[in-house]
Amino acid sequence: MVDVVKISDELVIGGKEFIIIAGPCAVESEEQMESIGKFLSGLGIKILRGGAFKPRTSPNAFQGLGMDGLKILKDIRNRYNLKVVSEIMDPRDVEKAYEYIDIYQVGSRNMQNYSLLKEVGRADKPILLKRGMGATIDEWVKASEYIRIEGNDRIIFCERGIRTFEDYTRNTLDLVSIPIIQSKTKCPIIVDPSHGTGRKELVLPSSKAALAIGANGIMIEVHPNPESALSDGFQSLNFREFADLFERITNMERVL
Ligand code: PEP
Ligand code: MN
Repeated sequence: MVDVVKISDELVIGGKEFIIIAGPCAVESEEQMESIGKFLSGLGIKILRGGAFKPRTSPNAFQGLGMDGLKILKDIRNRYNLKVVSEIMDPRDVEKAYEYIDIYQVGSRNMQNYSLLKEVGRADKPILLKRGMGATIDEWVKASEYIRIEGNDRIIFCERGIRTFEDYTRNTLDLVSIPIIQSKTKCPIIVDPSHGTGRKELVLPSSKAALAIGANGIMIEVHPNPESALSDGFQSLNFREFADLFERITNMERVL
């Protein structure tokens, strides 16, 4: 059993409910987010993901809409009564982003950005701490201590795969980290099968595995038209594929 992390008066992560977070890799436009917000809230999704600050391998790739993206997220959050998780890369943006999002995401590339960890540690909002792609479990846990030591214990871990010699998948999804993190830290942990596999056809099987191994939820990339997505379209589900996953996962029995 883990300690629950409160997101709002009605919503916790780490409780009985298996939380399904969904949304696009990146916030691209108002129209895109409007269609996603409408679709996801219609299904009963409570937490929307979407990057406004995108950590891209190439500086020439789409970097996200920045503050404009956060404003779009806030609009959709209010219109559809969703909570929002979004990545912050720069400690200077933590305060600026405060009113726009409900959960700060620390991405894989920043798991050991100690200035950022300390800054979000001083914020009174939950933190989604993704695993560094080259981080051991011990390094990941120690990174979380940087947040906790500043006074913030609302930490949710996110297993998103690690780099191994295997290159069929984008990363190797290390599902045994789930029970290990839960017992070592008492924090909830969710799985990101989209980045963890980098292949849309593997998102459903790894979501099932995440639920079976006892994860507290999953986070899935969804896009109205993955072929034209500005980032990570190859691993994003379209609405029909996501609705199918949602139905299958919510019908699975969760044995803890
Ligand atoms: C993301 O979730 O938007 C993301 C960039 O993932 P990661 O940091 O795990 O690569
Ligand atoms: Mn992505």
